[in-house]
Amino acid sequence: MCDLIIIGAGPAGMTAGIYAARAKLETLVIAGEFGGWIARENVEIENYPGFEKIPGKELIGRFKSHLESFGVETKTAEVFELKKQDGVFEVLAGEEKFSAKALIVATGASPRPAGIPGEKDFLGKGVCYCATCDGPLFAKKDVAVIGGGNAAFDAARFLAKFAAKVYVLEKNKEVSADAASREALERTGKARIITNARITKISGDNFVKGVAYYDAADPEKKEIALPVAGVFVKAGNSPAAEFLGNLVDLDEKGQIKINPQTNQTKTEGLFAAGDVTDAKYKQVVIAAGQGAVAALSAGLYLQNSKFQGSNSK
Ligand SMILES: Cc1cc2nc3c(=O)[nH]c(=O)nc-3n(C[C@H](O)[C@H](O)[C@H](O)COP(=O)(O)OP(=O)(O)OC[C@H]3O[C@@H](n4cnc5c(N)ncnc54)[C@H](O)[C@@H]3O)c2cc1C
Repeated sequence: MCDLIIIGAGPAGMTAGIYAARAKLETLVIAGEFGGWIARENVEIENYPGFEKIPGKELIGRFKSHLESFGVETKTAEVFELKKQDGVFEVLAGEEKFSAKALIVATGASPRPAGIPGEKDFLGKGVCYCATCDGPLFAKKDVAVIGGGNAAFDAARFLAKFAAKVYVLEKNKEVSADAASREALERTGKARIITNARITKISGDNFVKGVAYYDAADPEKKEIALPVAGVFVKAGNSPAAEFLGNLVDLDEKGQIKINPQTNQTKTEGLFAAGDVTDAKYKQVVIAAGQGAVAALSAGLYLQNSKFQGSNSK
């Protein structure tokens, strides 16, 4: 049994691992994929202190070598269940079972489908969730981005590097992206923002050919078709917290509720960090900071708990 298991190896999990190793906790990091979002999408990071601009893969590579320099044990596996029995956490991953006295969940969040007719049918045939991965496929073509938050505007700005035109379709009267993201997109000169847009379908043959919507302010609700080759869905995220059962409380977005001082969940010895939590802002620097808090709190918990194998929940 180790002192601490960390589930997830994005910025939150890897930072937690670094802090845990420095506190001499016997630590195991288990992750489906080392790196998380910024590595998968190789996002160009321009807001991580110390680096004016750094590709996500490179930044994560630095996190990983830092973690490995402490000799922290790692395992690539998807965790599907977590239990707490007699004060011990049991982690079920693949065919294996691991035990620890304390646990940090840093499993992040994945993009959520928008539930539009045609979205599933054209997945991988013009419907995409990752602008950085798939944007270059749409060179000189028109594309649509569904959503009006920062993620949608940042995706649209990236797509504008390749696409002829980028439509941003927001269902509400106003977009929620911040001024910096809005101005950055405007500067591309390629975007058209359409608010009040209620999407009715994504259509095409073998590939996407268009997206249709009506203006919610139009009493006739006339359908308007936009010919586009790609539709990028940016409708929020699904936190990866389902496998935790009733060991945690979730908010209305499915995010783990934590004590913001300690990052502890409702269960003693169980901490959470990064995008999977109910922290308001989702950024690399915040996920890393939360990972540090969770590891320090886990260390204190282990120090004070005089672990005796009894159920401390
Ligand atoms: C397109 C895009 C652009 C972004 N751009 C920026 C930016 O420019 N600057 C910035 O600061 N932030 C940016 N972000 C936000 C940033 O990526 C996240 O805030 C950050 O990655 C969160 O880190 P995390 O460690 O909480 O989760 P993640 O990075 O998502 O990592 C989650 C980890 O958990 C693992 N995992 C999940 N479920 C399981 C399971 N059941 N079992 C085992 N392992 C599991 C995953 O494999 C992964 O290792 C961007 C996000 C996106 C999607």
